[in-house]
Amino acid sequence: MKRIAFARIAQESNALSPVATTLADFESAHYLAGDALLEAATRGPEVAGFFRRAELAGFVQAARARKADVEPVPILSAWAASGGPLDRACFEALEARLVDGLRAAGRLDGLYLCLHGAMGALGVPDPESRLLAAARTVIGGAPLVVSHDLHGNLTRARVGHADAIVAYHTNPHRDHVRTGRKAGRIAIGTVLGELKPQMAWRSLPMLLGGGTTIDFLSPMRSIFARMRHAERSREILAASTFMVHPWNDDPALGWSTLCVTDGDAAAADRLADELAERCWAVRERLPPEFRSADDAIAAARAARIRRKLGCVVMADASDVVSAGAPGDSTHLVRALLERGSGMLVYAAVRDPHAIAALWPRDAGETVATQLGGSLDPARSEALTVRARIASKHDRPGFGRTLVLAIDHVRLVVTEGPALVMRPSFYTEVGLDPWRADIVVVKNFFPFLMFFLPYNRKTIFVRTRGATDFDAAFALRFDGPMHPRDRVDDWRERDRLRRAIA
Ligand SMILES: [Zn+2]
Repeated sequence: MKRIAFARIAQESNALSPVATTLADFESAHYLAGDALLEAATRGPEVAGFFRRAELAGFVQAARARKADVEPVPILSAWAASGGPLDRACFEALEARLVDGLRAAGRLDGLYLCLHGAMGALGVPDPESRLLAAARTVIGGAPLVVSHDLHGNLTRARVGHADAIVAYHTNPHRDHVRTGRKAGRIAIGTVLGELKPQMAWRSLPMLLGGGTTIDFLSPMRSIFARMRHAERSREILAASTFMVHPWNDDPALGWSTLCVTDGDAAAADRLADELAERCWAVRERLPPEFRSADDAIAAARAARIRRKLGCVVMADASDVVSAGAPGDSTHLVRALLERGSGMLVYAAVRDPHAIAALWPRDAGETVATQLGGSLDPARSEALTVRARIASKHDRPGFGRTLVLAIDHVRLVVTEGPALVMRPSFYTEVGLDPWRADIVVVKNFFPFLMFFLPYNRKTIFVRTRGATDFDAAFALRFDGPMHPRDRVDDWRERDRLRRAIA
């Protein structure tokens, strides 16, 4: 009987956010270990409040399918909402718990690690590779299989420590379980001596491209189809394209491709190279330009019938909490207050200071207060308002929450990250999207699925914030970076990054 450990340490970090992620953020969002983790990955919910089943459930399914040969050994699972990089104490605590957990697990024949791939930690370069190195100190040369979000950033150290890396095949992501199962099958096959994974990869000096980067839309559709097709052959164990999270502080940032084959290094190399060429060919297809707040409000006003039949959903693309922004931006809500009169607006802002100050007040009271711009004051200014406290709530994940009525705007003020992408963010505090003209979300993609019943028109709005695509251009890179700079040839940087002479 072979024993394969499994663990998760996952968070997507935005290096531009000044709000560091702490151990308390993980422990309050999702933290499980030992038997409780095995139970959650077997029967669910795997990440309560977020995922009924995800990668670890997929891994456990793969292990159950080989239960005569393999025992899955739970170590720990820690997940936090996107935000700023982990503070150092948080990173070191998680790293120590992973190492201690692996040591305490007894003899291990392999390890599956579920990592986001775009996690940052203050003062720790490439922290996820360091986790792999730390795991290696316990498991030695035993097979180590890693799964990543496709927004992860591959590095030489990462690929060097892992026997295989697999990533999602969908964006917006909806194949967490399948990805875990794929990683599990590779780990199990390798541990049992049935597979000999060979990995090859490419790294592109490319931050943006591929249009909307949605897997079922052009131009990425054909690249995802190519990967799926490749994986139908027995020899190709996994083919991945990483459309990197651009706000990650690593000089060797960029899109990358990776292929894992069973024993055929040359085939892995050929496919990784082909996928890199395909990605490079769509580099000029930049993300769509987003509207200004004024244009967005005018467009919503003109969409009278659509507002009657449902609502207009405005995505605040400069303050996307699910991509690590602080969620305290006031630009869009200020514009909606000033120029959106006559339309009922639901919006959200995170402000723990305002919550602390207003929490003793009762529902129904009118208060004068400052809101927002407190976590990231360099990017937006506080709003000064008179508001009626419409309701008070204490919610897991969001913390203490106030709904404020300010003229035609219902503003949901949260203590914790204002991860606004599901209608339940509003319905749970008594705000019915059927009644609203405009509903603001702080998310790039998944809201499109969740708001389908209500949404009659989607408008992406750009103001100024930590998730502006060109804000990432201010980060440090190891050379010219498309599309900030002109880059004619990707191969030279790829060779440098992979240290190929
Ligand atoms: Zn992602």
